[in-house]
Amino acid sequence: MRIFHVLLVVSLLIFGSLSSGDEIVFSVLNVKVNNADDMSTLRHLGCDIDIVKDGWARVYIARDDIYKIGRTGFTYYVLYEDSRDISNWVKVDPDHEKRDPYNLDFTSYHSPESLYDALVELNTNYPDVTRLYQIGTSVEDRPIWALKITDNPDVEEDEPEIRFIGLHHGDEKISVEVPLYFASILLDTYKHISETRELVEEREIWVVPMMNPDGWVRNTRYNANYVDLNRNYSYMWNPDEEPHCGEYPFSEPETCAIRNISANGYDYPNTFALGITCHSGAQCINTPWNYADPPEYPEYSYHPTPDDEVVMEIANRFAEINTTPGFWVTNGCEWYATWGDCNDWSYGERSCIDYTLEISDVKTPPENQIITYCKYNLTSLFFICIASDCGIRGRVTDADTGEPIPANIEVAGIDWTWYNDPLYGDYHRILSEGYYDITASASGYIPQTVYDVYVDDLYAPAERVDFQLEKSVSTSKAIITSNEIKSSVECSLQCYPNPTSGYLNIGINGKLDNLKSIAILDISGRVVRSIDISSGYAEGNKILVGVDLSDLKIDDGVYIICIDMNNKTSYKKIIYTR
Ligand SMILES: [Zn+2]
Repeated sequence: MRIFHVLLVVSLLIFGSLSSGDEIVFSVLNVKVNNADDMSTLRHLGCDIDIVKDGWARVYIARDDIYKIGRTGFTYYVLYEDSRDISNWVKVDPDHEKRDPYNLDFTSYHSPESLYDALVELNTNYPDVTRLYQIGTSVEDRPIWALKITDNPDVEEDEPEIRFIGLHHGDEKISVEVPLYFASILLDTYKHISETRELVEEREIWVVPMMNPDGWVRNTRYNANYVDLNRNYSYMWNPDEEPHCGEYPFSEPETCAIRNISANGYDYPNTFALGITCHSGAQCINTPWNYADPPEYPEYSYHPTPDDEVVMEIANRFAEINTTPGFWVTNGCEWYATWGDCNDWSYGERSCIDYTLEISDVKTPPENQIITYCKYNLTSLFFICIASDCGIRGRVTDADTGEPIPANIEVAGIDWTWYNDPLYGDYHRILSEGYYDITASASGYIPQTVYDVYVDDLYAPAERVDFQLEKSVSTSKAIITSNEIKSSVECSLQCYPNPTSGYLNIGINGKLDNLKSIAILDISGRVVRSIDISSGYAEGNKILVGVDLSDLKIDDGVYIICIDMNNKTSYKKIIYTR
């Protein structure tokens, strides 16, 4: 019965609020109460008290407000989803009597060995929708496992991919249990509840519950080389600031295991849309950026990514749904800065919005609280799976052959390049509600832009925009394909407005005498215009040049400003839209 209530809470909390329409649906809950203060608190949360018996209050509350009960720290379960029909719960899960036995045990922490047994059990019970992969081996020769959950698990499909990681830090044992519990509930319900079935059928979910098995056995933060694995990723890796970041980025086999499922050119080249890395020591969700970048973004300042609007929208919604008492939201750098962590690498290099979830104030809570923390976080992890299909999605293919092309995806007004999945060509550009111009470009192809694409809210399925790119005449290689090159020159070169429809201001840090040439290139490296630099003038340490592009006979799309300063070349991408 206990599990049944968990499932009801799962389905009600995540999905109940999505389908209520205009009419407010009230649910009936049993809530544990200890004293008059509890009763007063319940009323202030919007509960109507029905009866009180044996320390339990039966209350009515708007279905959309159930999450407030858990957030406030009450123990409760749902009696009836819809108070108008007390037999309604049968419809929520008509097959509950026939459900497969619920096998995993969460009364004690999973060791590397018992975790392996649990993953094998899930894989054995649900062979049609799971694959178990050894994605790496730790310093002390322990296997690192990933469970992939999706229908047709051997076929690469056009689906958002989501990644859940536990135990970067070996002393944060609860971070193994929460993603494992999520996986077990997802698998235990998908045959019987249409909403979870949709996630198995329409998503590809990767769960790595224990990436640091040596740290688990040693009960230490670090791996067996005394490296803090969450400082060992390549983006902004910083040995000046981080004492245990490893000899070089990805020096450790455990971080290599994560790269092995997350980057092109490795065994499982996924492009994850959303990710959660689980930790403990606080009770919050932490958004990128985590690194500090003084003077503009020193430590303890809010350091947003270019996608901060949707990053924060998802984090705030995650926190609303999460029932951990006192759960909060913070920007990583504003809380405290870290360099070379998984979140920043995922967003910085891999087009993945990745969050740090801090599960519990106590690093490793008593074993009888494992299930409590698993339940606190369950619905918000389901929400991440739902939200992975918001924004704009589609495929980028060759117009002649129909084959997928590795492509860059640019959204006007958000200065950050995303990549598609090279295996199937699909991209999943997560965005907040609004209208967007989106451009796909690829080396050797003519870029394409689609304008005014309407994106609905986080719960609406993503808008589909497919690109069939035509080969460009020039076969020269694109000059810029990565964010790293772009960010390395941004400090010395500004272009605005960007996107531009004609007039463009170029600002260059440096002396006017050193400016040799300015050229505009297309994405394949072909010069479409050389700019007359005699119109440039100095202002302080800066050179300003105004350029009129309105007479250029070029297609809308991504172009590159190429500046030669004393034979040192800088680049900047612009989007040209007529
Ligand atoms: Zn941690």
